[in-house]
Amino acid sequence: MPRRVTQSELEAYLEEALPPQEMAAIELELRGQPELLKRLATINGRRDAGVHSVGEIWRRNRLSCASRQQLGSYLLGALDEEQAAYIQFHIDTIGCRVCQANLSDLSRQQEETVEIVETRRTKYFQSTAGQLRRKA
Ligand SMILES: [Zn+2]
Repeated sequence: MPRRVTQSELEAYLEEALPPQEMAAIELELRGQPELLKRLATINGRRDAGVHSVGEIWRRNRLSCASRQQLGSYLLGALDEEQAAYIQFHIDTIGCRVCQANLSDLSRQQEETVEIVETRRTKYFQSTAGQLRRKA
């Protein structure tokens, strides 16, 4: 049974702005529905002519970007599989520069935090070991 694919889905597909599962689903429909390919070509032609839909403008304004909080959870591996897959797709496949920059900034912060904690822990153990030696 062919699925009805909406105009905004086709636009998002062209921009590769959909989660991987949906990209695959639309690809499947494109293979089975020749008229969908025609619609896709029309959208692509319009885009070359500089006509942009609301959906495109919405995406261009990066409303689909992850928040810093989401990116932080992503780094910690605290997101569910679907969200993590979407962020990975958004960053690696779409190559969103804004999110890439945010992510590397956040991972630097996390590394620094880990370093501070480790230094503190090392100092603590050293002083504890020192005290134990003195008592012995
Ligand atoms: Zn982004």
